[in-house]
Amino acid sequence: MKTSTNEASQLIDRYGRKIDYIRLSVTDRCDLRCVYCMSEDMQFVPRSQLLTLEEIEEIASAYVELGVTKIRITGGEPLVRKNIISLFNRLGQLEGLKDLTITTNGTQLQKYAADLKAAGVTRINISLDTLNPELFHTITRNGQIEKTLQGLDAAIQQGFNKIKINSVILKDRNHHEVIDLVNFAIERGIDVSFIENMPLGITGEHNHQGSYYSSDQIVQDLRHQFELIPTTEHTAGPAKYFRIPQHPQTRVGLISPHSHNFCDTCNRVRLTAEGRLLLCLGQEHSVDLKKVIRANPGNTEILKQAIINSLDIKPKGHDFNIHSNEILLRHMNMTGG
Ligand code: SAM
Ligand code: SF4
Repeated sequence: MKTSTNEASQLIDRYGRKIDYIRLSVTDRCDLRCVYCMSEDMQFVPRSQLLTLEEIEEIASAYVELGVTKIRITGGEPLVRKNIISLFNRLGQLEGLKDLTITTNGTQLQKYAADLKAAGVTRINISLDTLNPELFHTITRNGQIEKTLQGLDAAIQQGFNKIKINSVILKDRNHHEVIDLVNFAIERGIDVSFIENMPLGITGEHNHQGSYYSSDQIVQDLRHQFELIPTTEHTAGPAKYFRIPQHPQTRVGLISPHSHNFCDTCNRVRLTAEGRLLLCLGQEHSVDLKKVIRANPGNTEILKQAIINSLDIKPKGHDFNIHSNEILLRHMNMTGG
């Protein structure tokens, strides 16, 4: 990845927050159906309505010119999008981009880990909620844990700067596995983050509210086994990190949209696979960037101005409230994690 200076950031919102991070969802499709993320029978966006890979690159490039230094590719499952490696290859060449990362369920990583490394991907987040094959199959509604574990091994072999496991912790399903998941990460010298269930989308029989297990409770559970030292480190994302003095290679992150709202320091925006720019994961404020680029083909200045103007509607904070019965109708696979 080329590192040179881009324009000083022009992306500062009404609350003085500097936006230097964009998450790009490249597809809403996935080969798994995690209970907290999707319903079993999902209606996906017709392929004709998705941004093309070239359009995604155009938008990413405009963001980097405006001061964004970190891009995360997500989905749905990003590695099921056709020709996705060509997008990584092009993004890896963007001047001024410091960090190109991906969030994946790992099922395709055995095939693509080497290509991602060669394209300049620096860090990989792999979702793994349980180490129990049957429970994995139940939570993902059809997945085989071996594929994700083989993908994880392939990523470790490639030697990315950082690899992190993401686990959504669900009460009475996998909450008893948090110590095992930390030990699993320690054995591999990688990080692990625990995520609170967010009430996004109607996901069939899954009850977002009843599955809520707080980060504070997770920390309490982990302290039975590990000495956890809070740190002020962060990786541009919303996780709070702990170190375990005996295992310096592994950090334990907590992503707590409910119990520890992180909106004050929000530095990111998200683009859906259809080109809708979301200014907040937990609100519906959005701008249709697909419309902007299709109405003004090749006009980077108009695109950049639309991106700058969009910050006027970035809200102060999200509206998630796990204790109410309200949920956002948008599923997580629309926007990525
Ligand atoms: N398919 C990829 C994966 O699973 O890593 C990338 C997309 S997935 C939507 C991104 C992250 O969002 C995953 O770590 C997933 O566990 C998390 N996620 C999905 N639905 C969620 C929800 N309702 N609450 C909290 N996290 C969620
Ligand atoms: Fe697919 Fe990721 Fe959603 Fe699971 S969390 S259904 S792997 S997009």
